[in-house]
Amino acid sequence: MRKIGVLTSGGDAPGMNAALRAVVRKAIYHGLAVVGFRRGYHGLVYGEYQEMQLGSVADIIHRGGTMLLTARSPEFMERSGREQALQVIEKSGVDGLIVIGGDGSLRGAEALERLGVRTVIVPGTIDNDIACSDYSIGFDTAVYNVTDAVNKVRDTATSHERVYVIEVMGRTSGHIALAAGLAGGAESILVPEVPFDLAEVCDRLQRGVKRGKLHSIILVAEGAGAALNVGEEIKKRTKMETRVTILGHLQRGGTPTAFDRILASRLGAAAVDLLRSGSHGKMVGFRSSDIHVTSFAEVLAEKKEFPQELYRLATILAI
Ligand code: ADP
Repeated sequence: MRKIGVLTSGGDAPGMNAALRAVVRKAIYHGLAVVGFRRGYHGLVYGEYQEMQLGSVADIIHRGGTMLLTARSPEFMERSGREQALQVIEKSGVDGLIVIGGDGSLRGAEALERLGVRTVIVPGTIDNDIACSDYSIGFDTAVYNVTDAVNKVRDTATSHERVYVIEVMGRTSGHIALAAGLAGGAESILVPEVPFDLAEVCDRLQRGVKRGKLHSIILVAEGAGAALNVGEEIKKRTKMETRVTILGHLQRGGTPTAFDRILASRLGAAAVDLLRSGSHGKMVGFRSSDIHVTSFAEVLAEKKEFPQELYRLATILAI
């Protein structure tokens, strides 16, 4: 192996830059050349790439987003687009490719592997919805951002004695809502993985008021339903003053936490080592505080586990 390619794909996640830095520096350390494809799979299809030097990744470890840019590429979903990508890969001279991205990017990486491109994926998504890895890059930062927002909303909620329904990201998963709900002391956490009953949520709110609670915070994962509807329903049923806040993209931005930077550095470096060892078609994940390598087939076949125990604990503590 003489030259490797790297790209970031799908939704941006804080820590992707730290992963790029690790890939580029670890590869150069071992005497490999590195090419960075811009805008995810779009760069593969349209031949947008640049040679990466040690200095190309200077001063980015602390920055959110991704310096190589990211995109969703409909062309790459088509066979013709992937064949075009194959030609670009051959022309660029890379012998292996590291893809940093989420679930969709993993499927794209698997499609490339089937076309004969040696591919390794590093899980990078705030949603933390990728199986076979306890964490994906960006999740910890997103949870930090949401917890910080909950703290701020709580001040207003207490002062005005209101119920706040806060909608958080996660696509079809409730991992961010659960972690931030536990860390932020939310009264109820609504996630797609656990069936919920709004009557029970309202009972809980009313019990809280009876014992003197000045405010209530309800976290709703976007995949569990629209917070606006949940807020309307709570207002109608309890007659309590209710407000809805949709956190949106502020959850994804900002400087990555130390955890995400370290995770990204370790996974990026491990991805280079995997390619160097001749292994590919695999994801470099993180389990029980260590690097955990799994084949694409295994990751795709498995569903990410939802920590039900943690959910029960959050419910008990918000009694
Ligand atoms: P994420 O990686 O964050 O989950 P997406 O789901 O948008 O983001 O996927 C990123 C990109 O991966 C898509 O724009 C597309 O180019 C590619 N992709 C997704 N699914 C597939 C698939 N089944 N086959 C080939 N490429 C795919």
